[in-house]
Amino acid sequence: YERMRNKLVKTADNFKEKIENVMYMGSFDDDFFDELEETLILSDLGAQTSVKITESLRAKIKETRSKSKEEVMGFLKEILVEMVQVETAKPQLPTIMLVVGVNGVGKTTTIAKLSERYKKEGKKVVIAAADTFRAAAVEQLDEWARRVGVDIIKSTTGADPSSVIFDAIGAAKARKADILICDTAGRLHNKVNLMKELEKISRVINREGDGFSIHNLMVLDATTGQNAINQAKVFHDCVEIKGIVLTKLDGTAKGGIAISIIDEMQIPIEYVGIGEKSEDLIDFDPKKFIDLLFE
Ligand code: GDP
Repeated sequence: YERMRNKLVKTADNFKEKIENVMYMGSFDDDFFDELEETLILSDLGAQTSVKITESLRAKIKETRSKSKEEVMGFLKEILVEMVQVETAKPQLPTIMLVVGVNGVGKTTTIAKLSERYKKEGKKVVIAAADTFRAAAVEQLDEWARRVGVDIIKSTTGADPSSVIFDAIGAAKARKADILICDTAGRLHNKVNLMKELEKISRVINREGDGFSIHNLMVLDATTGQNAINQAKVFHDCVEIKGIVLTKLDGTAKGGIAISIIDEMQIPIEYVGIGEKSEDLIDFDPKKFIDLLFE
């Protein structure tokens, strides 16, 4: 929690300051609600989510006839807390995780972080380097696997990603792995190919992965703001996403995007990335996140 507080200070300060400025307007009239909506949008909560929050608050103030700034702040917090509570399910082991996301969001780093975390928990991890399009991605993953000390299944550049996944599932079974984490390509500019590739990989997993649960993760970069939601929608159309990893929350003031992602996608954020090192991954607690914004 302390680590999260330190890393989220920019987002929290930004949010708090802006919201308090709106509260100081005094009366809770149309101008106030317009200003609040604008402020939420500027805090990266997105238009749709911001309107929803503003309308809920309007209804709550009308219902309670509250004129107290403190009380209204409390209502706002309650609305946000309720909004971010979506059902989460821990993966049933053994599990296969497809990790999807656009290039540069922090997929490779996240896979390294997850591997280390599971390994520390005493789990047997195998990584599949199925982003065969980028030689550098395979090399980077290989280096991480060596550093963390987990097995990696890879192939030559340009190989069919689903054949790497096929081999990796075989290896995961043979080595009695608890978790098979699969890197995938993130070339979003070629949506049709990307979809075909992910669908083919999914077919292989469904066919070969008997005995394994499937728990796909989407990696999103917090610094890209609302763009992250558009990316999530494209990938969610291709494969069923069970959880989100929101990276680069350290040093950005755009962390409000977390609320918008949960509200619009109705998918839980499971982890957040707060740095480049393998230990810089923390469990995301939505209630604590909102607490931090109001502290
Ligand atoms: P990929 O292309 O999606 O596999 O992205 P990489 O894992 O290679 O990450 C891209 C860059 O973002 C690298 O320089 C990482 O060190 C950096 N990065 C990844 N996650 C985080 C994070 O949580 N915080 C910060 N500050 N940097 C990160």
